Amino acid sequence: MATLEINDLHVSVETENGPNEILRGVDLTVKQGETHAIMGPNGSGKSTLAYSLAGHPKYKITSGTVTLDGEDVLEMSVDERARAGLFLAMQYPVEIPGVSVSNFLRTAATAVRGEAPKLRTWVKEVKEAMVRLKIDPVFAERNVNEGFSGGEKKRHEILQLELLKPKIAVLDETDSGLDVDALRVVSEGVNRVRESGEVGTLLITHYTRILRYIKPDHVHVFAHGRIAESGGPELADKLEAEGYESYVKGGA
Ligand code: ADP
Ligand code: MG
Ligand code: MG
Repeated sequence: MATLEINDLHVSVETENGPNEILRGVDLTVKQGETHAIMGPNGSGKSTLAYSLAGHPKYKITSGTVTLDGEDVLEMSVDERARAGLFLAMQYPVEIPGVSVSNFLRTAATAVRGEAPKLRTWVKEVKEAMVRLKIDPVFAERNVNEGFSGGEKKRHEILQLELLKPKIAVLDETDSGLDVDALRVVSEGVNRVRESGEVGTLLITHYTRILRYIKPDHVHVFAHGRIAESGGPELADKLEAEGYESYVKGGA
């Protein structure tokens, strides 16, 4: 079973007034087959955690460790992270001008699988995944994220997720900007991947509504750059009823 282990992670960003510590000792273990939700108020550092796992150069790891099956993730290049089985979907995905969705997916699959997928089976695989996610076939020829609506960006992320079959997937605000129909389609995608039992998911979200469709095994409340409380699915119900106020007040 693949395991992502985050140990006492501290992360800073450089600002005009010097370094600003955003993550202040994050501890979290996600295993293949498990679904964890990280919830928390805006500005608590959730996306910073995702960026740090992705290896974004703006986010400086000042101490702590991140390992995947004991391998040091922080030492890996962005490509190596993907090959190791880590999948990261960012809250604000970037446009890739001149690269079509179709080419992007095949390149990504080639990198992750270590060999180019056979063209005929690949085309079929992509088509079927697009049908499941209710994505228009012409979408495959559009440039990645260029002019995509919020919903299209998120469906594209789940398309990648379904095709790349990572060991650990980090999904940052996959639910944001989705109407109820799109939320259902995206959630079904995440649940399909989950049912394979082969993917561990870290679902980062501000809102509890996606948790009506995706039932996490573990819920963590993020506040002031660290996990303030962990529990089972019942913790999400408590947050839905009470909000984050008690965590925000009790801050650093
Ligand atoms: P969340 O995703 O929980 O809303 P973020 O991780 O986006 O929180 O942000 C946490 C804090 O870190 C915020 O105060 C934000 O302004 C600050 N921050 C995040 N990224 C940067 C950056 N690149 N430069 C400066 N400050 C940042
Ligand atoms: Mg600490
Ligand atoms: Mg965020």
